[in-house]
Formats: sequence, C-alpha cells, structure tokens
Amino acid sequence: MKLDYQNIISKIYADLIGKENLGKVPDYIPELACIDENKFGVNLTDLEHNSFGAGDFKQKFSIQSISKVFALSFVYEKLEEKLWERVDVEPSGNAFNSLVQLEADNGIPRNPFINAGALVICDVLLEICENPKDELLTFIRNLTEEDDVFFNEKVAASEMQNSFRNAGMCNYMKSFGNIKNKPEAVIELYCHLCSIEMTCKQLSKSFLYLANEGKEPSTKKQILSSSKVKRINAILLTCGFYDESGEFSFLVGLPGKSGVGGGIIAIYPQHYCIAVWSPKLNLKGNSYRGMKFLEEFTTQTGESIF
Ligand code: GLU
Repeated sequence: MKLDYQNIISKIYADLIGKENLGKVPDYIPELACIDENKFGVNLTDLEHNSFGAGDFKQKFSIQSISKVFALSFVYEKLEEKLWERVDVEPSGNAFNSLVQLEADNGIPRNPFINAGALVICDVLLEICENPKDELLTFIRNLTEEDDVFFNEKVAASEMQNSFRNAGMCNYMKSFGNIKNKPEAVIELYCHLCSIEMTCKQLSKSFLYLANEGKEPSTKKQILSSSKVKRINAILLTCGFYDESGEFSFLVGLPGKSGVGGGIIAIYPQHYCIAVWSPKLNLKGNSYRGMKFLEEFTTQTGESIF
C-alpha cells in the first residue's frame, strides 16, 4: 500500500518551518547571496507521475551542482566506460572546491561531482558537442517535458568573475593533460552549467530516469542503460554531498545530490525522486533544512535503500 506522501510532506514541512533555520547563504558567488534565505520548497514525483509538494516548490532557484548529474548522464551515455580514464569514482573526503588531491592523483579528479570532476566533464562536452550549452538545455528540457529551463546569465557572470579556485583547478589539470580545451572555455561552460534554474517540481520529475533503470517513465525513452544508472546512483550515494556524503547516507539512506543554491535531490529507486530547496547551507555546503527534511522523511516513511 502506498503511503500518504502529501500528508507526510506537509507535516514535516510545517514542523520544520516552526524550527530554527541554521546555516548561511553562500556569498562567494555574489549573485547567489541575493536570495530570500527563508524560501523552502519540497516536491516528490513518483513513477506514475503523481506529484506531492509543499511551500515554494514551483519557484525556480539556482540548481548549481545538481546540474552535474545531468552533465554526467549526458557525457556517460556518449563516452561509455572510457569516461573513467579521466575521472575517478571515489569519495573525496574533501571540500567540493578543494585542490589538494589533484597533485597526488596526477590531475585525475576523485569523482564527477566535485568541481574538478565536473570541469573535466565540461571539457568532454566541449569535445563531443557542436553547441554544448544548447545540447545540455535540450537534454534537460526533454527530461522535464518543459521548455522553461534556462541558464541565469547573471549568476553565470557572477561566478565567472569569482572563479579563481575553479580556474586554478582547471589550469592545474591542464598541466597533466586532463583538460583538452582552453581553460577559459571550460570555465565558461562550467559556470553556465551551475547557473541553470529549475523548480523542485521540475527537478523531481526530470531525475525519474535514475529511479526507473534509465527509462523516462512517461515517454518510456531509455535515457541511460540500467547498468549506467546503477553506477550513477552508486556515485551519488558515495559522493553526492561533498565531504558530508557519508553523513547523508547515514541519516537519509538514499542516493542524492546537493548544490550550493540550497537544493537537494534524492532518488528512491523503483519508486520516486524527491527534491528539496532551502538556501541556508551548513558548514559542509549542504542545505541545512534540506538535510533535516530528508532525514525526517525517510525516518517517517521507512523508505530508504537499506
Ligand atoms: N558553482 C559552484 C562552484 O563551482 C558549484 C558548487 C556546488 O554547488 O557544489 O563553486
């Protein structure tokens, strides 16, 4: 029997709204600091396309690193297992924008979800696509079945002006031969990728292929093979939350991905995807309320992969 997700979501939402909202909106990308820090939205979409939401779930926000999952899916489908010659699949145990491991690892990023890994994915996109920005947007729009998904040029420009660490990583990886294009072009694409704006509702729908063995449930289109989906979910579980991935897995028990815009998506394989957005981040860069919500949600539903 299916649980009453709407009731569970609404109750946890109401409970958390009444509690302290700790953390801080990031200011290292100035344009992101302008957001109302009390925004809070949740949406769950199941494989039958039933949708359950609360709060600001129809408002767009900067999905930031969540977009790394789209980029990885797009590139993995095209490059197959060759991709893993250029990026590893190990948790980093370091901050998302850390440079320290790159030297010891000869310019091979630990995984595709830290910034260095996503920069390599952007480099691959520049190699295999005529127009990577358009092709990425089309890929995401097909998943959401809506045309209303765009880059936020202001956020992209704001990040480009402050991308000293990302530029450092990109140039450093270039010195090892793991970046083929001009670092400036890679950073430009990376900053656009991070600037994509979507709602919780769009996010929970667009990632259903990861809950459905690679198939988009309404169109039945195979986005990725089931074996690739298994691998992406495995990397999400072990690497999706920066150096708090173990904690997320421990508290929530679902594969997922966060972004510094305050969004989190989590996948319950064979069942649904749930997206949460609350801009204040904890010290590790994950949404404070988002983590709390999902911990409570899987506790109350008893639904996790374990
Ligand atoms: N655009 C952000 C950065 O490169 C993404 C970080 C994130 O969401 O994890 O710093």
